[in-house]
Amino acid sequence: MSALQTAQLADFARRQAFLGFGPDDVAALQFLHTSLKDDAPGFVDAFYEHLAEFEEMRALIEQPGLLDRLKRAQADYFDTLTSGPYDADYLQRRLAIGMAHSRVGLAPAWYLGAYSHYLVGLLPDVIARLGTDPAYLLPAVQALMKVVLLDIGLAIDSYIAHRDQQIARLQDYMNVFTGMPFGTLVLSSDLRVLYVNRALVDMLGTGSAALQGRTLGEVVDAAPLQTLLSRIGEGRPVREATTLRVLDRPNELAIPVGLTLSLLPDSSGLPGRRLLMVVEDLRLQARLETDLLNAQAVAGIGSWHVDLRTGQAQWSDEAYRLYGRDPGGPASYEVFLDAVHPEDREEVDSAWRAALAGRPFRIEHRVVRPNGSIRWVESRGKLQRGADGRVVKAFGTVYDITERRQASERIQRLAFQDTLTGLPNRTLALDRLQQALAQAEREQHGVALLYVDLDHFKEINDTQGHLIGDQVLAEVAGRLNAVVRQRDTLARLGGDEFVLLGPSDAASAAQVAERLLQTVEQPVVVNGVRFTLNMSIGIALFPEDGRTAEDLLKHADTAMYRAKAAGGGALRFYHAGMSDELQRRLLLATRLKAALHGNQLRLHFQPQFDLHTGALCGAEALARWHDADAGWIAPSEFIPVAETRGLIDELGDWALSEAARQVRQWQEAGLPFTGRVAVNVSARQMAAEGFVARAVALVRAQGIEPDCIELEVTESSMMQEPRKAEDMARALVAAGFVLSIDDFGTGYSSLAALKRLPVTKLKIDMSFVRDMLDKPEDHTIVHTIISMARALGLRTLAEGVEQRAQADALLALGCDQMQGWYRGPAVPGDEFAARWLTG
Ligand code: C2E
Ligand code: CA
Ligand code: CA
Repeated sequence: MSALQTAQLADFARRQAFLGFGPDDVAALQFLHTSLKDDAPGFVDAFYEHLAEFEEMRALIEQPGLLDRLKRAQADYFDTLTSGPYDADYLQRRLAIGMAHSRVGLAPAWYLGAYSHYLVGLLPDVIARLGTDPAYLLPAVQALMKVVLLDIGLAIDSYIAHRDQQIARLQDYMNVFTGMPFGTLVLSSDLRVLYVNRALVDMLGTGSAALQGRTLGEVVDAAPLQTLLSRIGEGRPVREATTLRVLDRPNELAIPVGLTLSLLPDSSGLPGRRLLMVVEDLRLQARLETDLLNAQAVAGIGSWHVDLRTGQAQWSDEAYRLYGRDPGGPASYEVFLDAVHPEDREEVDSAWRAALAGRPFRIEHRVVRPNGSIRWVESRGKLQRGADGRVVKAFGTVYDITERRQASERIQRLAFQDTLTGLPNRTLALDRLQQALAQAEREQHGVALLYVDLDHFKEINDTQGHLIGDQVLAEVAGRLNAVVRQRDTLARLGGDEFVLLGPSDAASAAQVAERLLQTVEQPVVVNGVRFTLNMSIGIALFPEDGRTAEDLLKHADTAMYRAKAAGGGALRFYHAGMSDELQRRLLLATRLKAALHGNQLRLHFQPQFDLHTGALCGAEALARWHDADAGWIAPSEFIPVAETRGLIDELGDWALSEAARQVRQWQEAGLPFTGRVAVNVSARQMAAEGFVARAVALVRAQGIEPDCIELEVTESSMMQEPRKAEDMARALVAAGFVLSIDDFGTGYSSLAALKRLPVTKLKIDMSFVRDMLDKPEDHTIVHTIISMARALGLRTLAEGVEQRAQADALLALGCDQMQGWYRGPAVPGDEFAARWLTG
């Protein structure tokens, strides 16, 4: 037996003592019980009929099965009321029944009603059975009254015990509500505050007295609540994020809250009109949000989201700032794209499209701020899909990576850039070379690799020190870089070695090499010291000289060493696979230009004689070029190179002006040169715009008149555009020049055309003269030319006369003049004077 039960039993005994309920009563009740035993307890049915008259009771006892159970329990109950024994068992059963009744909701009045029906129903029987003997009747009725009172006391006790339990439980609920971190309110339908917990009082800062019993609208602005109330329906709670403002504190910020409102059931268990309101304080969350935004701003992170169904976008202030737009301004994908650097737009746009198709969105791109400054940002995003799997929302971040980019670019530079010259270093050069080879392989084109090395650079380092040496190198690198095309790569391999990668064939490689060589024509001046530099360039070609980066580098290096071995200041091809002829022409072009600019060409003069008198009648100026490496180079070799490489105008101008200078010099020296100096003019030269005016100007610039000069033109050059040639010839003759046709007989001149030209002389090509004594047909040709020229009133000059017999034969055929080794080869101007102009 528990302590409680022991206490209850003691109390039960005390009550019996108070009531004077003793063994006599027990005996009297037992006697009564046995006497009435056979009678059916009709009062139970009567009682329930009576109960059914009360509406709330009807609702209760109509529960299925309950009525029978109640009836049986009640019959049992009243049976034991008289049977006893009134011990601990009896007590516990009574209390349990009372507790059950009070839980079911049977009010104490039910007990009174039940006892009343019991007594009213029982007393007639009691009187009928015992009434004849008052000695039995009175003690029985007294005992019955005592035991009924005792029992009613027990029933009331169990009601009180149940209420105590409920109160204790409610107290627990109260404590829960009170201690809840959420503000909790119970409101009547007119929003009167029935209950308010600590959290809400603290949240509003009003004190509980200000709230209790007042309507909510008197304390806070209840407008946000009204809309919530209108949504509340069938017991389902409604929730909304809103703000609450305390009315008598207009200066304080409204509190951001989450409100949940639901209807509370009333005491009968039916939905009632009381409202439970839970108020979630969102200030912390809002502050966290602000903190987050502030943190993002500090970290340079912006955030954005886009509703993909409406296209509406929202950016955080920092996102606006990063995209270079004013916070609060328009935000959309278009505005974003507009902020992206034009060169990055396409890439960003396709990344975004790929993202919409399900790829991760993460891209580094530039943003152009309205002030024109450029920042690097990284934009990242994620998609949110709806229940149907379709994308509904995208959200993401953007942050400034300018510093990171700069750092990684710095690292890149350190790793791939030569610090002295700022050019790509060996590593990057090799990388680019490999890429270029792969691309050339794919696209089936050539690539040239130029290996550039300064000649005798070691001497500068040794005599001037490394500091000066470095400055010279930096200056050279700058000059080289200035003439390199954008798409080519110039890199420093180390020391005084550079490579250039890019030209696609031998010809363009030679041209580029030529430009590189020219960069050091002017001395480099460092600290007031002049350094005259030269460089050697070796060229290897892909694919003919090698297919791998190593092979090409090795071969370009080999070629460079050959250039150096030949004296330096030049370029060499690694010629495996290239014809000697082509290689030589490529080299010639480069060197010829240098020779022209370096004033290394000379004119030699070959005397011309009158066949009749044998006297000197003129001279032909012939260009001569002595190259330091290659030795004498014949005009038949370099003139065609000059013509194809665009150097012929320059060379022609030089020859004309140089010939004029020589004539002027002889005149000034008082030497008796009476004839003219013949200067060769190539077809291309004549085709150039303004040739006549320039020829006149060049000659006059040397202080002589055009009538001292004869111009040798070829048949073919006059026949290409006969009209134009005719006009030009007339203009030249009008200016004072005399024209002769060179190499006559090798072309296909139309005699009619020739007749119209103001030409004075035909030069019979030496190929006919050479064999005219042995080959009758050549003799015939020479004869025919001379006859024809006479008919047209033209003089004739035979070239390449090497023997006296040739001269005699020519004279016999009526030729006027001759030129050739028989009388003398072309010699320098002073030698010519010494030999032929002696008076
Ligand atoms: P060309 O005008 O027919 O010049 C005559 C060539 O015959 C010269 O050759 C000359 O040295 C050579 N020659 C002279 N006498 C004899 C001889 O008895 N026997 C033989 N076998 N050869 C003789 P070179 O100097 O080699 O000139 C070759 C060509 O180059 C010239 O032929 C001319 O067409 C061109 N050329 C030379 N100098 C110039 C120039 O300043 N301008 C232009 N446009 N062409 C030039
Ligand atoms: Ca000639
Ligand atoms: Ca000739």
